[in-house]
Amino acid sequence: MRPIYNLRISKAGLGFNHNVLKSMMKRPMSRIVIFVLTFFFFFQCTGPDEPRFSFSDKGRIAPEFSSGQAFKYIRTQVEFGPRNPNSPGHQQTRDFLYSELQQFAGERNVFLQSFVHEGYEGETLHLHNIIAAFNLESSDRIVLAAHWDTRPRAEEDPDRPDDPIPGANDGGSGVGVLLELARIMSENPPPIGVDIIFFDGEDYGETGDLQNYFLGARYWGNNPPVPGYNPRFGILLDMVGGEGAVFPKEGYSIRFAPSLVDAVWDVAAELGYEELFPDREGALVSDDHVIVERTTGIPMINIIHHERSEQGGALFPPYWHTHQDNMEIIDRDVLQAIGDLMVELIYNRI
Ligand SMILES: [Zn+2]
Repeated sequence: MRPIYNLRISKAGLGFNHNVLKSMMKRPMSRIVIFVLTFFFFFQCTGPDEPRFSFSDKGRIAPEFSSGQAFKYIRTQVEFGPRNPNSPGHQQTRDFLYSELQQFAGERNVFLQSFVHEGYEGETLHLHNIIAAFNLESSDRIVLAAHWDTRPRAEEDPDRPDDPIPGANDGGSGVGVLLELARIMSENPPPIGVDIIFFDGEDYGETGDLQNYFLGARYWGNNPPVPGYNPRFGILLDMVGGEGAVFPKEGYSIRFAPSLVDAVWDVAAELGYEELFPDREGALVSDDHVIVERTTGIPMINIIHHERSEQGGALFPPYWHTHQDNMEIIDRDVLQAIGDLMVELIYNRI
């Protein structure tokens, strides 16, 4: 994957691109302008003090996050069966998530963004991003995301590699945590605006075929439901409930918003979760957040269970993309840590 810094700069909204900058460089006076702009970009975009990425303890008590409730939301999804596109479980889960979010956010604040994509067999896949907005009055917003589809194959499993996986952790966990947050926000209006997006079609692609991954994030980024949508930042939750979890600082997240990553990991450590959130760099993990950043410029970071191999690649847990990604490997303590971190950020830090 290519570096993203160019996009960070264009995101600043100043309307410059590299061709403009290159043509300006031909004129000597412009070099000074470039110099000044470079400083401006540096402090605007990547400076450690960028206000929208810095948190402070507001002295408020965050509401309680229930890992038991998050666990139930995961189990409900898994009981619908695999949620790969066009499967019966996929349709049932779409309806379930849509109606739960309507209940929590109010009917008018939930949006189903439907689209189609051609599948590997030439079939038409019917895909849906599910979006809910909380505290719409606030223009100061953040976005929280997870993918809700599950993998149509189990290529890491010697047993039945062509069958779809249960996706309790890979798919179910992020959604379970965000549904519990939605329930909490319905009872405790958040002090900032919070948008939840459940992306579809994240895990459809065959290994290495990145064009068939991240389908929902790509569609959302290229077809923004709200033109000019400009939240402070996004947090993607992916594989956040599995046993043995560890969340090093994911590589693209560090590129997109290093100070935000540090701030989030610092809060996790303050809450006593420094072992789950170690202060070390992980691998570059291609995921929905990369697509969101590229298509919209919204800096989105990814909290994802992985480790970095000695060669620098991403390693995932043994149940990843196998039929063992079921309820048995869901760890409530991991869900609790993620949930505690999210409510603390929303209600007391941002
Ligand atoms: Zn996956």
